[in-house]
Amino acid sequence: MILDIQRMSTEDGPGLRTTVFFKGCNLSCAWCHNPESISPRPDLFWFAQKCIGCGTCEGSCSRGVITREQGRVRFNRAQCAAGTPAAGDCRRCVEACPNGAIELKGEAREVESLCGELLKDRAYFGPEGGVTLSGGEAVLQSAVTVLARLLKEAGLSVALDTAGAYDFRVLEGILPFVDLVLYDLKIFESALHRSFTGADNRLILENYRKLMERGSRVWVRTPIIEGATDSEENIAAIGRFIREAGPPEKWELCAFNNLCRDKYERLDLDWAYKTAGLTRKEHIKALTQTARALVPSAVWSGSTV
Ligand code: SF4
Ligand code: SF4
Repeated sequence: MILDIQRMSTEDGPGLRTTVFFKGCNLSCAWCHNPESISPRPDLFWFAQKCIGCGTCEGSCSRGVITREQGRVRFNRAQCAAGTPAAGDCRRCVEACPNGAIELKGEAREVESLCGELLKDRAYFGPEGGVTLSGGEAVLQSAVTVLARLLKEAGLSVALDTAGAYDFRVLEGILPFVDLVLYDLKIFESALHRSFTGADNRLILENYRKLMERGSRVWVRTPIIEGATDSEENIAAIGRFIREAGPPEKWELCAFNNLCRDKYERLDLDWAYKTAGLTRKEHIKALTQTARALVPSAVWSGSTV
C-alpha cells in the first residue's frame, strides 16, 4: 500500500533518488509531516477551495460516509471501506465529484509492477542515487522486503528510511538488500519520547546499536521540533548515545517546517504545530555545535529564519 512516489529527491539519501512512501506507521509523532501515511489504509483528502458545494458526493457513498454541514463536506472516516476486502478499490466519491475536491491517498500496488516503474528512473540516478523506501514505516509491509530484493538484483542502490520501533527481526530480513539506512533518533528520554510519539524508544535505541554492530551504513536524522526535540540536553544525550554505540556516517539535524499544514486540514485534523514557525538558524547552529562536539559528522539541513 503506497502513498506516493517522489522523483528527483535530494533529501532522502545520497545523489538523486526516487522515494517511495509506504502507508502505515506504528508511531504517531505529534509533529508528523505525513499524517496521511499513518493509517495503513487509504485516506480521504478534501480540498475546501475546490469544493463548489454541489452535494453530489453525499449520495455517492452507499456506506453513508459523507455528509455536509455548514458548507463543509464531512467524512465519517471509520466507515469508509476503501482498501478493505469488502470494498476493494472503491473510489466512487472521488469519481462523483465534478471538481476534483476529493482524493483518496493510498494505492495497493503489485510489487513487480512497482519495481518496473522504479527501474525506469535509473536514467537519472547517476553513481550515487537510487531508490529510498520511506513512509510511514516501510518495513511493516513484508512486500517491501521483496521490492528491496528486486531493486538490488537489478543493480540499484536502495536506502531505507525507518524509525526503528519494532523487533529487530523485522529489519534483519531487509538489510541484505539495503545499502544505506536513514535512521530517526528523535528523543532520548524515554517518557518524553512516549509522550510525543506514542511509543517507548527502548527498541529504537537497541536496534540502532544492533545496526552498528552489524557494520551497516547509517545516517541518523533528528527532526528539530520546538519544545520536543530541540533542547541542548536532548541533542547531547542522543550524541553521547550514538558516539558510544557507533557513530553514523552522518548525523543530520533537520529544521522544522510547517509545509504539511494543509494536509491536516484536508484530513480534518487539528495539528498542534499549525502556528509554529520555521526553526531559528542560530538555534539549530548552536544545536549542531553541541552535536558535532560529540559526533563530528553532525550537520544541519532545512529552511530556517
Ligand atoms: S471511498 Fe467509497 S466507501 Fe470510502 S467514502 Fe468514498 S464512496 Fe464511500
Ligand atoms: S461533490 Fe465535490 S464539489 Fe460537490 S460538494 Fe462534494 S466535494 Fe464539493
